[in-house]
Amino acid sequence: LEVIASVEPRIAEATKQELADQRASLKLIASENYASPATLMTMGTWFSDKYAEGTVGHRFYAGCQNVDTVEQIAAEHAKELFGAEYAYVQPHSGIDANLTAYWAILAHRVEGPWLEKMAVKNMNELSEADWEKLRNELGNQRLLGMSLDAGGHLTHGFRPNISGKMFHQNQYGTDPETGLLDYDAVRAKAKEFKPLVIVAGYSAYPRRVNFAKMREIADEVGATLMVDMAHFAGLVAGKVFQGEENPVPYAHVVTSTSHKSLRGPRGGFILATEEYAPSVDRGCPMVLGGPLSHVMAAKAVAFAEAKQESFQTYAQNVADNAQSLADGFLKRGANLVTGGTDNHIVLLDVSGFGITGRQAESALLDSGVVTNRNSIPADPNGAWYTSGIRLGTPALTTRGFGADEFDRVAELIVDVLSQTTPGTTKAGGPSKASYIIADGVADNTKAAAAEL
Ligand code: PLP
Repeated sequence: LEVIASVEPRIAEATKQELADQRASLKLIASENYASPATLMTMGTWFSDKYAEGTVGHRFYAGCQNVDTVEQIAAEHAKELFGAEYAYVQPHSGIDANLTAYWAILAHRVEGPWLEKMAVKNMNELSEADWEKLRNELGNQRLLGMSLDAGGHLTHGFRPNISGKMFHQNQYGTDPETGLLDYDAVRAKAKEFKPLVIVAGYSAYPRRVNFAKMREIADEVGATLMVDMAHFAGLVAGKVFQGEENPVPYAHVVTSTSHKSLRGPRGGFILATEEYAPSVDRGCPMVLGGPLSHVMAAKAVAFAEAKQESFQTYAQNVADNAQSLADGFLKRGANLVTGGTDNHIVLLDVSGFGITGRQAESALLDSGVVTNRNSIPADPNGAWYTSGIRLGTPALTTRGFGADEFDRVAELIVDVLSQTTPGTTKAGGPSKASYIIADGVADNTKAAAAEL
């Protein structure tokens, strides 16, 4: 920090403050964690300075022998950890991983057969007219993903996202009564829409998915099954999700982040079957530029950590703790989307407290509890104000919290929310953003949180 302060003291100060804030609060953001010192330190090395466009042994730059070592080790660890046929560790983030995977699927399913039909080896050999036809063909493809309000991610075909623009998109939701995935409804939609790609996986769905059923549906309509396990990769690595709950044996392509439940550096990666591997391997230059070599090195360290037996205990604790948190809410009369959880996410419907998700998020933040507001299915408050709060157990489990601590966390949250009321707008009308917390509640909660 002293070195940083000698150049830009405000950044040193913000860094110090971030540590202090993280120490003083309860981190319940479902997509966050605490990476190990080994992982963090691996990111702060001279690999950061290196350019290495291309793939292992096939770079567009000289002097990449050490990056080759790093990328190869990271990919080997990922393959072993997840039992995958192929791993690609270059994507800088989850969004990069998804975009790269989409183009790899298009390259495999559309471009490859097209080039074969035209009897050419690559696109540069196509005539202008045929290239135009191929572009139309690529742009005519369909993608079916989980809707955002049911818990899907914006990269799963949400219109404002590029995934909703590069594909004709359609969405499946959850059962309005139970909040659970209805596989028959997904099948019916797939049969009607005939997608090239079906995306499974979620950001805010508090339940496990049966990937064998999703693959069956994909096969029935001739779609490629892509699973985005960004959120629950740690539960797969830690063998909590096994059999039909493990996407790797069922999906053609699996994408992920490395920084959520997997507890690695901020980044993405892709797993694929041998059939899709050559297309994914073209991620650079198809979609990506130079990989972040220092982050690939940190991914290798984090994957090595996740292979240790202690990570399996950690992953099981993440799931058990989510149960304790959910039970803590239910016994205090709060409403949960789907009535509970069987992964690392708890989605609390705060409408019963008479406030919006935005008001709940702010009141909790004032009280030292960091969460994020989240839509619930068919949310009357829309995606900005929302009616839900998404909570996750990976970070506090890393801090060593167990069942008792998570029950106490539920108690603290219910205490804050039941003593928070909507404020008014400047014009005096009802507000969905401003809020009033009863005197003393925020400070008392902060003190209680600090004791945990
Ligand atoms: N996929 C899912 C399911 C996610 O939840 C997220 C992040 O929230 C992403 C992809 C995107 O990851 P990143 O923020 O690293 O781009």
